[in-house]
Amino acid sequence: MRCAKCGATAVIGMRQHRLNLCAEHFVAWVPDMVARTIDKYAMFAPNERILVAVSGGKDSLALWDILIRQGYETEGVYINLGIDHEGYSDASEDKVRAFAEEHGSVPFRVVNVGEVYGKTVPDLAHTRRGKRVCSVCGLVKRHIMNRVASEGGYAAIATGHNLDDEAATLLGNTLHWQSAYLLRQAPVLPETHPRLARKVKPLCHLYERETAAYALLRGIDYVEEECPYAVKAKSIVYKGLLNQLEHRSPGTKLQFYLEYLHAREDGLFRQEEPAPIENTCPQCGQPTMATGLCAFCRLWEKTP
Ligand code: SF4
Ligand SMILES: [Zn+2]
Ligand SMILES: [Zn+2]
Repeated sequence: MRCAKCGATAVIGMRQHRLNLCAEHFVAWVPDMVARTIDKYAMFAPNERILVAVSGGKDSLALWDILIRQGYETEGVYINLGIDHEGYSDASEDKVRAFAEEHGSVPFRVVNVGEVYGKTVPDLAHTRRGKRVCSVCGLVKRHIMNRVASEGGYAAIATGHNLDDEAATLLGNTLHWQSAYLLRQAPVLPETHPRLARKVKPLCHLYERETAAYALLRGIDYVEEECPYAVKAKSIVYKGLLNQLEHRSPGTKLQFYLEYLHAREDGLFRQEEPAPIENTCPQCGQPTMATGLCAFCRLWEKTP
């Protein structure tokens, strides 16, 4: 297998693009692909400040690496959820901290949920019977990221979702015809309120194996273990099914996602303009659709 650019031995073949590349050309191709994605969906301008949600995994650290190299003004935020299974959260925090130091001490902060709010995410889910850890976790992460972005005046919150993540979510939402979720699944979610920053996914055109190869070739030290709660997630099953299809027919995942975006652009999932968010949570001050406390504050309120 030869590199399409220089003829040297290729380290990766991307059958969906009919492209084989050597290490040198691959680590240049990935940031180009990301730059094209940022441009295509008008994710953010070069002078805008970006908050990067980093988990310690390969995708978010690869994303942060690429944005730093491209000269964006970024800050990394790690949310320590307090998942202590084999020290998962603390080990992930260490990786993020080491990454920030290696990259010239780029701005970086940790929000430790247990220390700031008095309970870890698993404890909180445990005391809220019937609430799954992942749904509590999602709510907590969204709230904290919005708060940090708003306080720091960031234009956008960037996350490391790759194409495999997006295709798996899309498959799950389609199997259940979750039209409200389908409507919201996009590379860019515009700000819906001055205090709710834009959400962007600059890796959404990259396959997971490509972000993993990029992290490896760049020498990024990341947490290889998945979150212990991810094992139960349906998305793992969907990813496996999509990989089987991809194996038989290269490009299936990319096509599934891109054609969905085209259909979405053409208005397939169009609905009425959402009502403006006019309320403010009396406890945390965040904008909310609720008339009293926001969903995040209610989560803590009812917890014994
Ligand atoms: S798998 Fe669930 S608990 Fe783990 S980080 Fe993801 S959403 Fe949170
Ligand atoms: Zn080459
Ligand atoms: Zn609130």
